[in-house]
Amino acid sequence: MITGSLKTEPKVETIIVQSKGSLDLIILGGGPAGLTAGIYAARLGLNTLLIEKTLIGGSVSTIDRIENYPGFPEGISGIELAKHFEAQAKKFGLEIYFGTAGNIKNEKNKKTVIIDGKVFTSKALIIATGTEPQKLGIPGEDKFRGRGVSYCAICDGPFYKDKRVAVVGGGNSAIEEAIFLTKFAKLVTVIHRRDELRADKVIELQAKSNPKIYFIWDSKIEEIKGVDKVSEIVLSNVKTDKKSTIECDGLFIYIGYSPNTAFLGGLLKLDEEGFITTDKNNMASIPGIFAAGDVRSKELRQVVTAVSDGAIAAVSARNYIEELKKKNPDYS
Ligand code: NAP
Repeated sequence: MITGSLKTEPKVETIIVQSKGSLDLIILGGGPAGLTAGIYAARLGLNTLLIEKTLIGGSVSTIDRIENYPGFPEGISGIELAKHFEAQAKKFGLEIYFGTAGNIKNEKNKKTVIIDGKVFTSKALIIATGTEPQKLGIPGEDKFRGRGVSYCAICDGPFYKDKRVAVVGGGNSAIEEAIFLTKFAKLVTVIHRRDELRADKVIELQAKSNPKIYFIWDSKIEEIKGVDKVSEIVLSNVKTDKKSTIECDGLFIYIGYSPNTAFLGGLLKLDEEGFITTDKNNMASIPGIFAAGDVRSKELRQVVTAVSDGAIAAVSARNYIEELKKKNPDYS
């Protein structure tokens, strides 16, 4: 039996984790991939524990509206979808423990993970730790974080009622969040380094027909300026090198995401961008360790591919454990 601090809703309480005996599976990450893996693993009868660092739902909880997840023709908010996943996982008995994972070891058919100083051991491990927003790495970005610089429109957008904001990036995230910000801001300037968007056509058309959205093309941001908070940003045109300044109260940065794999400390093979490489069963370079969701090396990062990854990883983990038991009848 494992003891520790377990959160269900926002309230934090210290209780005993119910998992009896040795764990079959530990899932790291409580986003769509981890929760789906949890639903499948619980239904397959695996003694499973999901470990989440901060918020159940992961980055999906920061999306205002998801319109391409099947089953919700009117769209659904990220938070609501995450709550559905969580409720379904808990209904099948998945246990969730809050803590920060580190120091993973692969020892003789057992995986150990240190969570906030406690050792957890299981037969298989699914890593579904997702990604974090990429930074521009320019002067002013760190200084004004939380004072005009944001990576989450749904969290900070309401602070910009009738203000002027800028969004940097040309992908689905940047353009969807620019549209969301028009609910509050009086002007949303999208700054993109090329002259065409990467975002899906349907989203591009919505943005281009929105009277509050203005585009600045072929430009990168060189510096974020202000006194106590952001007041202007310095741009440079990538074709002409011409510098310009725009006044704005906030800058939302949506230039892609980096994988949360640093905690692995080189244990698993990663691709050149740091995402975990797997085989077709989502098994990583060490047998019994699987990857699912945005942290996995793949082409399409969507909620729908994250949940698919979670299901595949859970079934593969069960198959791996069954094989181990066949080869070692005394294994428990
Ligand atoms: P993304 O698709 O990788 O787009 C990143 C954008 O930021 C690109 O336009 C890129 O420019 C720009 N960029 C990258 N580095 C930059 C830098 N240093 N300075 C300035 N601009 C920079 O990332 P995302 O929009 O976050 O989306 C991530 C994944 O989630 C994608 O697969 C996306 O389709 C998916 N997603 C889907 C939905 C949806 O289906 N509703 C919603 C959100 C996200 P270039 O175009 O020039 O490379």
